[in-house]
Amino acid sequence: HPVIEMRDITIAFGGVRALDGVGLRLFPGEVHALMGENGAGKSTLIKALTGVYSIDSGSILIDGEEHTFSTPAAAQGAGISTVYQEVNLVPNLTVAENMLLGREPRKLGRIDVRAMNRRAQETLDRLGLDISPTSVLGEHPIAVQQLVAIARAVDVEARVLILDEPTSSLDADEVEKLFEVMRSLRDHGVAIVFVSHFLDQIYEISDRMTILRNGTLVGERMVAETTQLELVKLMIGRELEVLER
Ligand code: ADP
Ligand code: MG
Ligand code: MG
Repeated sequence: HPVIEMRDITIAFGGVRALDGVGLRLFPGEVHALMGENGAGKSTLIKALTGVYSIDSGSILIDGEEHTFSTPAAAQGAGISTVYQEVNLVPNLTVAENMLLGREPRKLGRIDVRAMNRRAQETLDRLGLDISPTSVLGEHPIAVQQLVAIARAVDVEARVLILDEPTSSLDADEVEKLFEVMRSLRDHGVAIVFVSHFLDQIYEISDRMTILRNGTLVGERMVAETTQLELVKLMIGRELEVLER
């Protein structure tokens, strides 16, 4: 059965509906792509799940039981870890401190620094990332900071990992490293939600997808059974125009 099921979710901002009757079923051990054009409602649906936004109507089931998170910390406490497209880290802290903050937000200040650094090093090693845990985060390029945000999300031992456009600032090698980690987590039963604008990445890593258009649900598809052309038609709601020269 799904680890998470969202049913008929509606959210409006100032009277404008960003989501209108949208659902999502997320199964353990799958990479589930959330697809749709910019503004379709992907991030809003994720934020509704993780307690950033409250829903106007609809229901959220965790392990089959109705449950709504009132804060992102509550969602994280239940094993739902999220990396947003806007990197949400503290530049003047070290890499290891940022990773700890993701796990235990109130722990800084009374922590075993050596244990903290050791654990961060282990996670970075597992990801194949050559980043010093004791280096200051803000001195790294944005792509490296994004990798630290991903390492932090992986570090919390989540059952559900949500990656909202995590690859936009990564190079091809970094994307491959991320995919290796995603495959390993998936094989350990973690459910992963993946948002990316790059269809090649979606087809390489995803098993199933949910497609949104203008805040509504188009449907759910198996990636292997859907061509890229069919997917684009579902996303934009019409046939592609073939331009003749
Ligand atoms: P996507 O992630 O698919 O690009 P979003 O979920 O970010 O789309 O946005 C869906 C719609 O909801 C957009 O029209 C966006 O402007 C609107 N929206 C999202 N968050 C807010 C907000 N906090 N206040 C007002 N409008 C919002
Ligand atoms: Mg967007
Ligand atoms: Mg978005």
